[in-house]
Amino acid sequence: METKQLYLYDSYQKEFEAKILNVAGSQMILDQTAFHPLTGGVAHDTGHIAKGNIQHRVLRVEINRETKEITHVLDAAGGLNIGDVVKGTLDWERRHRLMRLHTAAHLIAAIMYRDYNALITGGQVDCEQAKLDFNLPRTDREVFEDAVAKANSEVAKGIALKIYFLERTEALKMPGIVKLAERMPPQVKELRIVEIPGIDVQADGGPHVNNTREIDEISLVKIENKGKTQRRVYFTVK
Ligand SMILES: [Zn+2]
Repeated sequence: METKQLYLYDSYQKEFEAKILNVAGSQMILDQTAFHPLTGGVAHDTGHIAKGNIQHRVLRVEINRETKEITHVLDAAGGLNIGDVVKGTLDWERRHRLMRLHTAAHLIAAIMYRDYNALITGGQVDCEQAKLDFNLPRTDREVFEDAVAKANSEVAKGIALKIYFLERTEALKMPGIVKLAERMPPQVKELRIVEIPGIDVQADGGPHVNNTREIDEISLVKIENKGKTQRRVYFTVK
């Protein structure tokens, strides 16, 4: 029972209607959803689900990577039944912060690679802040201060992002995303490409802002040394 992922097509969709495919306890599966699950290093959305005057909170959203089934974990599911049509509404302030921090993470990762040859090894975008792990022998804070300053100058330029779908074979021809695309399971025939023109291009399923200007301003929170060449940077937006 695959759930159609509406957020892949429009990061700004705040409301949607969907049919309930299954309810078990306080967990519910819909035929389509704009709620982004915890996946790809980006935190899940929250919000609510309503049917008439029945309303329940969406506390957590999870995706099954194999079946693409998305589970909404509610505070309670009383009054909701299989086949019902419900209305979903996202907590927009939280989602928009996740989008701003996610696009900021792409900027910083691209600049760290371009200027310091630092490969990203992990990351997590949460509502309050984001963290990125890099393979980088240097330990000086100036490296990250420089990357954040450069990212902020890209923010100020107001670059419009491009999000589009490409056939796997076409995507594999693009420099930079080859490695990621090769890691995708072979049954994935079409890849969603997120491009920050002139800076970064990635195969990526997460929500992003339309324009870097929406990020407003990135600030460095802290840096941690995680072993010989592993550096973790925490950053946030206003
Ligand atoms: Zn991403």
